[in-house]
Amino acid sequence: MRILVVEDEQKVADAVREGLEGERYEVVVERTGEGAFFRVNTETFDVILLDLTLPGRDGLEILRALRQRRMETPVLVLTARDSLEDRVTGLDSGADDYLVKPFAFAELLARIRALVRRGRVAEAPRLLVGDLEMDLVTRKVTRADARSSSPWREFELLEFLMRIRVRSSRARRWREMSGRK
Ligand code: CA
Repeated sequence: MRILVVEDEQKVADAVREGLEGERYEVVVERTGEGAFFRVNTETFDVILLDLTLPGRDGLEILRALRQRRMETPVLVLTARDSLEDRVTGLDSGADDYLVKPFAFAELLARIRALVRRGRVAEAPRLLVGDLEMDLVTRKVTRADARSSSPWREFELLEFLMRIRVRSSRARRWREMSGRK
């Protein structure tokens, strides 16, 4: 299980690394957004812990760039900013969860475990919305029992729309879990 920790504050990065390695996770730390972006383009991680305030490109920019490239690695945003607006922006940019510093290490571990569980389900190359199922490998779209293949453009558009639905229901689940409306 590999975790990428993107954090420019040495003390926080060291504490998180030490704690996670104690739990037998393999940890890679990057101090800058550029470094993190290069890493995720060349290596595979199970979870990314992403600080928002970084030198150079900030966390949100990195997150948006990842999602634009359809990298679905679960991202847990770590930030000192504790405003509803920041949380919503983070989730809209493709974050899977959000943790405000300072946080208890036990909570960080629990969130990571939850993301890994969700990530495994999301790894199946299929999108499900209602009774519509899209196989991203065979590019077949199924509704009820009917099976049809879409021309490439329509497939892309439908995939885009389905991803929006999947992501917004993910954000809704998160808001319900955290008791926010
Ligand atoms: Ca920072």
